[in-house]
Amino acid sequence: MVKIPETMFKYCPKCGKHKTMKVKHEKSARRKGGMTAMARREKRTRRGYGNQGRFSKRPVTQTKMASKTSKKVDLRMTCADCGKKWVFSYPRTKRVEMVKK
Ligand SMILES: [Zn+2]
Repeated sequence: MVKIPETMFKYCPKCGKHKTMKVKHEKSARRKGGMTAMARREKRTRRGYGNQGRFSKRPVTQTKMASKTSKKVDLRMTCADCGKKWVFSYPRTKRVEMVKK
């Protein structure tokens, strides 16, 4: 388990300096809204050909994704000074806990 502080002192790309950041743990920041741009593109190009990838995919249990027991953590960073927001990817862990400093 990894304990993540609610505020971090990190580099802000907009300010160009290290600033205090508010950290929010978003469970599905990257996958929000369903399909990714690449997935939409694949669906578009596959139109009218074959089986739209429905039966050519391996079952989920056999893929690499399902074999991993941990997930990458997506952290929403917000700059306290300029309000710039971005997603900061944290290495794989099983459990995450937000800790007040
Ligand atoms: Zn900033």
